[in-house]
Amino acid sequence: MKDCVFCKIVAGELPSYKLYEDDKTLAFLDIHPVHPGHTLVIPKRHSENIFEIDSGDWMAVAQTVRTVAPAIETATKADGVNLLMNNRETAGQVVGHAHVHLIPRFRGDGLKLWPHKDYKAGETEDVLVRIRAALQ
Ligand code: 5GP
Ligand code: ZN
Repeated sequence: MKDCVFCKIVAGELPSYKLYEDDKTLAFLDIHPVHPGHTLVIPKRHSENIFEIDSGDWMAVAQTVRTVAPAIETATKADGVNLLMNNRETAGQVVGHAHVHLIPRFRGDGLKLWPHKDYKAGETEDVLVRIRAALQ
């Protein structure tokens, strides 16, 4: 897609530090890592987010994540790896080409992902019913 930075990386029009690729996916280092080794896995075919990605492309992305995550953990001597996907601007998505972050984590690295809260009375059932209905 024109003007998409990750499509340009796929096309070789912009440089990247590639780690892995197959016919449907590409894994490369994030330019501004949380920690060294922070990697992005993308479908080669442009789609904006989880809502738009072709399910075959998504399965291929998942497979590449499964392949690359252990290598990141081993190579960086990490104590764990976060998988993260921002979908839409409100969820923190900046680059509009679907991507999964693989972030190596280290004991005591101090990163906190997000605060948790309690459900209010009736809220659990309400959201449960709504999501179940949306799945129909
Ligand atoms: P988002 O917030 O959209 O989930 O994350 C986009 C990520 O892409 C950011 O972590 C950012 O550092 C990374 N990024 C943006 N532009 C480039 C680029 O041109 N090359 C690489 N390798 N990473 C990029
Ligand atoms: Zn794109």
